Amino acid sequence: MDPVEGKDTAQGFQNPVAGFAVTFKAMFKKRLTEQYPEQQKTTAPRFHGRHQLNRHPDGLEKCVGCELCAWACPADAIYVEGADNTDEERYSPGERYGRVYQINYARCILCGLCIEACPTRALTMTNEFELADSSRANLIYTKEQLLAGLDDTMVDTPHAIYPGMDESDYYRGLVTEAAPGTVQQVAFSKGEVQEGDSTFGESEPASEKVIGR
Ligand code: SF4
Ligand code: SF4
Repeated sequence: MDPVEGKDTAQGFQNPVAGFAVTFKAMFKKRLTEQYPEQQKTTAPRFHGRHQLNRHPDGLEKCVGCELCAWACPADAIYVEGADNTDEERYSPGERYGRVYQINYARCILCGLCIEACPTRALTMTNEFELADSSRANLIYTKEQLLAGLDDTMVDTPHAIYPGMDESDYYRGLVTEAAPGTVQQVAFSKGEVQEGDSTFGESEPASEKVIGR
């Protein structure tokens, strides 16, 4: 047999076998397949997931409606409208609160610049990552959806400031729970439910979806 022809025959046999060798080796490697969503992996502790608007220990909101988060956002995903608190209808300890707050998750890239910009630590990010939806409108999360749930020591807003305390006492951590007898005030001007306020347009109403916390 011609030596060149013999070499070709040997290679013609070896090449497919070499291909199977790759498959054979992979059979003994650790499997990387994840059984999502049946089995969910725990995210890294500082994973950037869905946002949360935090409360003070008595339930008043930390957001002061300053819009710094919206200005910091490179994707223009945040819309904020601030308003004045009154003694009859108080949402935060200070002068202003976030009357309308929306985050558009069709735009958000979860970069975290907004939470860095927030001066009151009102805005933080959770580890929740299941944000996909089939509707653009449902990807606009409203203040009601983003607001943190109530602990046992909290009363839902609006309600009066802790007696004898001022705004700076809240930020010094002197208010640790709602004062005895604190009750929720009647809300006359809650922002998200008012029509014609949103700049996202009439065809994209704020989502009604309620997110579990
Ligand atoms: S995480 Fe980034 S993109 Fe998303 S709202 Fe905040 S600043 Fe904007
Ligand atoms: S979340 Fe923070 S930065 Fe954004 S409007 Fe509220 S207080 Fe200002």
